[in-house]
Amino acid sequence: TDTLLNDTLAAWDRDNLLHPTTHTSNHANGTTPGRIITGGKGVYVSDRDGNQFLDAFAALYCVNVGYGRTEVADAISEQAQKLSYFHAFAGHGNEPAIKLAKMVMDRAPDHMARVYFGLSGSDANETNVKLAWHYNILRGKPEKRKIISRWRAYHGSGLVSGSMTGLAAYHARFHLPLDGFLHTHCPHYLRRPDRDMTEAQHLDFLITELEAMIMDEGPETICAFIGEPAMGTGGLMPPPDGYWARVQEVLDRHDILLIADEVVTGFGRTGSMFGSQHYGLRPDFMTIAKGLTSAYAPLSGSIISQRVFDVLMQGSEDFGALAHGWTYSAHPLGAAAGIATLDLVDNLSLLENARDNGAYLQQALKDAVGDHPNVAEVRGVGLMVAVEFMKDPAAHEWFAPMTVGPQISEAMTRLGVIARAMPEGNIVGFAPPLSITRDEIDIVAKALRAATHEVL
Ligand code: PLP
Repeated sequence: TDTLLNDTLAAWDRDNLLHPTTHTSNHANGTTPGRIITGGKGVYVSDRDGNQFLDAFAALYCVNVGYGRTEVADAISEQAQKLSYFHAFAGHGNEPAIKLAKMVMDRAPDHMARVYFGLSGSDANETNVKLAWHYNILRGKPEKRKIISRWRAYHGSGLVSGSMTGLAAYHARFHLPLDGFLHTHCPHYLRRPDRDMTEAQHLDFLITELEAMIMDEGPETICAFIGEPAMGTGGLMPPPDGYWARVQEVLDRHDILLIADEVVTGFGRTGSMFGSQHYGLRPDFMTIAKGLTSAYAPLSGSIISQRVFDVLMQGSEDFGALAHGWTYSAHPLGAAAGIATLDLVDNLSLLENARDNGAYLQQALKDAVGDHPNVAEVRGVGLMVAVEFMKDPAAHEWFAPMTVGPQISEAMTRLGVIARAMPEGNIVGFAPPLSITRDEIDIVAKALRAATHEVL
């Protein structure tokens, strides 16, 4: 029977599968949610027990076109039957990867020149750092290799990408960050280091800190600065007004590359195609993943600028092949999923939807809980929105990390809505499929209100 099968699956799960980002002993003793998800349609997913959830976080802000799109599933299936795989080494090509590269470059800012496909956001960031190092080595500046990122950033879980991530839990007990990976303050006013700072003073502080770090370390040692145009996992925090223009000015003055990590912001989540366009960044590298295929298949990319590409081109004439390749780089099934996804983003006007319904979502959440005494902020851009809870917002007093945030998220799940408790805070995050409707948003807001009043 189903119950028997469920018990068997749960036991097999405990006995065989080591889960990512999971409390291992809680999972073993059955106190993680441990849901086995079996289906998805639109913004809804269902589990083996027959429960349905409105997924207001698009899994991990990746299923941007929504679940159950036959256009994407069919594209993968047709490609698998035609050619499931051939490698892209030594210049070999496959049709979907070439077509998708063209579609990506048509959408990227004009000064970007090529895209290198990988599998995950983490490996794309490893590629970015390796290519940035390679660029400086080819320019005769091998000592220019340090990387600056921000606290509360998330750039992945690899050794290099995990070093750039600025969340303590991803460093502790892993010998991270590696040498030469530095972090500046998180650009979020609520998290200003001094309560009495004005917003203008806070912005000055961030820029002064960056410049001081560069001068202390020596500009000749700094290779790149990496940032999410609007921070995601650290708490869905849009940057302060004017932040990126001033960061860019500092970087340009010291010949430091900018890596825009667009894994979350890419392909429409902010309401623009890329966060770089939304906030006027001029990156040398852009990291893409998640929305590229709506996670129907794994695929990521590193988009590189013309000036970086020119040096790589010259280098290959002098030194030979680029010795950096994953077996699955430019995998045709991921690429087929990417083409179908980007077509849907256009055909369903998902950028406009992210813009319009993002504003609607933010307002609906404000209407639902904005007047609650523990709500410090309802913030966001496009369809990435967060509600942050504090013990006493006026006194700038925080709750202990990961207390009420997870409780509210769990209460919402009991009400049938998935919203994510973001790490190291009390932040409930919303990043639904870009196809979400206003009626569905009303359900999300209602659940947030009920859950907030249940917990607080
Ligand atoms: N960069 C950002 C901004 C992300 O949000 C993530 C994942 O959430 C990554 C990189 C890492 O991507 P992946 O989990 O596919 O390795």
